[in-house]
This record gives sequence, structure tokens and C-alpha cells, in this order.
Amino acid sequence: MNADRTCPIPPRTAWFVPVLMAAVALVVAPGARGGPFPAADPDGPVLRVQVVYPGDRAPASIEARRLASGMGEPFVSSADAALMFRAARFWDPDRLQLTMRAGGRSAVVTVNSRHVQRAGGNLLLALAPVHVDGDVWLPLEFLTAVLAPAAGDDVDWDPVLQTLTVGGRRADLLTLTLASSTDATTLTLGCAKALAWRLERTAPDTLALTLDDASAAPALLGAVAAEGLVAGGLLAQQPGGVRIAVALAASAGGWNVETADDGREIRLALQAREGGAPEEPAPAIVAPGAAAAAPSRDVRVVVVDPGHGGSDRGAVGDSGTPEKDLMLELAQDVRQQLRRLDFDVVLTRDDDRDLEPEQRAETANRSDGDVFISLHADSWFGAEASGVTTFAAAADDAPLPDLADGFTPWHLAQRRHAVASGELAALVQPRLVAASGAPDRGIVRLDARILQGVDMPAVMIEVGFLTDPAEENRLLDGGRRRELAGAIAAAVAAFRGDEGRDAARPSSQREEPW
Ligand SMILES: [Zn+2]
Repeated sequence: MNADRTCPIPPRTAWFVPVLMAAVALVVAPGARGGPFPAADPDGPVLRVQVVYPGDRAPASIEARRLASGMGEPFVSSADAALMFRAARFWDPDRLQLTMRAGGRSAVVTVNSRHVQRAGGNLLLALAPVHVDGDVWLPLEFLTAVLAPAAGDDVDWDPVLQTLTVGGRRADLLTLTLASSTDATTLTLGCAKALAWRLERTAPDTLALTLDDASAAPALLGAVAAEGLVAGGLLAQQPGGVRIAVALAASAGGWNVETADDGREIRLALQAREGGAPEEPAPAIVAPGAAAAAPSRDVRVVVVDPGHGGSDRGAVGDSGTPEKDLMLELAQDVRQQLRRLDFDVVLTRDDDRDLEPEQRAETANRSDGDVFISLHADSWFGAEASGVTTFAAAADDAPLPDLADGFTPWHLAQRRHAVASGELAALVQPRLVAASGAPDRGIVRLDARILQGVDMPAVMIEVGFLTDPAEENRLLDGGRRRELAGAIAAAVAAFRGDEGRDAARPSSQREEPW
């Protein structure tokens, strides 16, 4: 596992630290009470700091350290900082880089460097993070200037009381209630202010209500209980806002959204079907002011992961061409097709190399990918097995154990995208089956290791069996392989919303946008 892996600083970096500090001293010296720029002091004094949270989150006592000689600035371990701000962290021991992700935003620091890389603009800290006792210690400024804004929190340091107050997320979505009558169920959202919303029908039996730029009270995150015409759902905090996926009971017919209390109350009302007769699907509702052509999802960066590589050859069929080579070629074809559809594409590997599953996930997370697709081919002991399978994380009804309190552990990163991943799988599978003509082996929901740490909607596709000569030939033939690539790209475009909100295409209809 790469998460939380630590290692000592190799000596090769030691030379450049004094150089950097000298350069830094030139810039900062005038304000720095004379004397040289403070050197890192691994044995700096330890101080006991109380971390206080508003609301009912229990306070914590942590050990901070004064790691810059002669400076009062406390440093906090990345482990404690992650807990404070519910951040995930990824440690790259080769580059001595720590990535912290809070509130959907990532920041990267390098040990002994004051630079912070982040999407919202890079930053120069007054003091560099240091590596001590198996963790990266972050100056307080990193918490106040980087992590807290990313997490939507305020943070306040009281040097006299040695107390760190971490303000609660300024939630705008405060309550979610469900109420049913004999033929209707209403899901009511209570908001601190009027919020812009969008409703999309993402699958025949799924609605997604998105609140742009909103943040949900932590207690609301996770599963939505089943009630009446609501068969269940998931409320998730995403980079662009809050998304509530609502699974419809079979007896649900039409639906409507209305607002009350000057927009501070949003009600999704579901009506039961009359007489049990299947109704025409109600047209999707678009929020006033939202452009009809607006994509239903903000999908820009697609991470494509060619399975295996290097010493790991994967499956091998009659031709002797291993899965790792075929999947790299397929991934390159998928990239080409996606670029035609205006996606940015990142490959986890663009050559033949060994990659652990966690490294693939880390590449995806660092790229701020919006969709992750891992490409594989199956094998069997004989030629009789054939067909296409799409895997997506299990949509577990149980709320995530650590989402509301503490950071999301690496191996659960994918779980909060399970609903969207299932929606993506539902778009991929029929298109691949149609494009290949291969048997439909269906969608399998399981927590595959390759998907666990991926912090975005993700699927793993087994595009066919290398042990079936017909399916192997399909992957060896450049033209037919591009058809498969086109089907995958078309599914991602559909996931973005290119086909319109209600265009449920018959799966027999061949996609030809490429
Ligand atoms: Zn494989």
C-alpha cells in the first residue's frame, strides 16, 4: 500500500536543503528578526495542543512540535492534520512528496521545500515541512492556508492556551427528511440559503439531485434510508457540490421538484404510478436558468489504466501476445477516441512497466481525474468462456464508517463513488457488448483492489477472453480494437451527459459517433 507509507530521507537530498534555505533567507531575512533562516530541528520541543471542534465532535489532544530553530511556529504531523480536516493523504517516498486531499481538493508538499502545489494556485510557505519520526510534519501555516480552506473549515491558533480551534464546515445543506403518504413520497432538503439545484435521471430507476457549490452537514453524508417510493440512495460531497442519488421504487411514476421558504427548502416529490400501469417516463426537470445543453456531469479528465505491465504479463492466449501489451494498445486507442470527444486523457502507464494497483490509483487521484477506467482481458482454462464483464465497486447500503468522523481510509476511497461507478458501468457494458458482439456477462459489483483507492467514479472492464481465439483476434485486429475503444469512449461521453438526460438508447442500436 502506498497510503501512509513512510521512509527516511535519503542522503541525496541533503545537499540541496542548505542551498534552498540560503535562497529563502535572502527573500525572508528582512522580516525575520535578524539571524539566519531557521534550520529544521528534529529535536525541537514538543508541545501538547488541544484541538477543539464546534458541535458534538470530541476534542482531541495532540503532540505538536516546534521544529524550526528559534521559531514558535508549531508543526503538526500529517496524521493529525488528516484527522482534523478529514483529509486523505498519499505519500510518495521516492519524491518525498505528500499529497493531502481535503474537500475534494489536493495539495502536494515536498519535504524540505516551501512550495505547495495545488490546483487553486501554488503557494510558498514561510517554513518547509520536515520529515521526522516516520511522518511529514506540517507547519501551522499549511493548515491555516491550505487544508482549512480546502476542507471549508476555519482554523484558529491560540498560542497562549495552545489550542487549535478547527471550525466546522460551513454547511449549507442542513437537513434531509423523507415523508410518505399513500401514493407519494417527498424528500425535503433544508438549506441555510437558497441553493442552485439540478435534477437528472441518470438511469431508468435513478434520479440524481445536485446542489451546486453546496456543502452538506457531515451527519447527512452516506446512505439515504429507504422510505415509500424511495428505494434508497446516497448523499455524497463532491468537488462541485452535493450529489444525492435517489433509487426509485418500482412503483414510482412521475416526480417533481419545488422550492419553498425563498429557496431554502427543496422538495423532491415522487408520485406512485396510477393503477400500476407503466407510465411514460416523466421528462427530466432542468433547474431554471440552467442551459438545456449543459452537461449533466463535469467530466474532463479521464484516467485510462492499461492492466498489468512489466514483469506482470497478465493473461496470454494462443497468439502469445500478453494482456499487458494488448491493453496498452487498447488504452492508447481509447485515449485517441476520448480526445476526439474533447476529454483530457491520462494513462497510468504509456509503456511497459510494473505498476502496483495503489500506484495506478494514486496517478488517477493526483491527476484530478473525473473518471477511471481499468482495462483487462479475461482468461479461462479452455476456449469455451467468452464475453464482456464490467466491474464496479459494491454499492453498500452501510454508511462509510469514517466519512463523518476522521479521514476516509485509502481502501474506502472508491466506496463513496459506488453509485456513480455503477451508473458508469451501466453505460459501458451494453455499448461494449453491442460493439463486440460478444456475450454479455453483466455488471459485477465488488471491491476490486484496483478500484479501492480511486477517488472518482471508476470501472474495471474485462473486454473479452484471450483464451477464446475469436475474442483474442478482436483485440489483435487494430480496426476491431478501435471499435471497442470507441464504445468505451462513447460510454464516458454518455456519462458526461452528451446523449441528453433522457435518451435511453436501445442497447441493440450500434453506436457510431466515432
Ligand atoms: Zn488482467
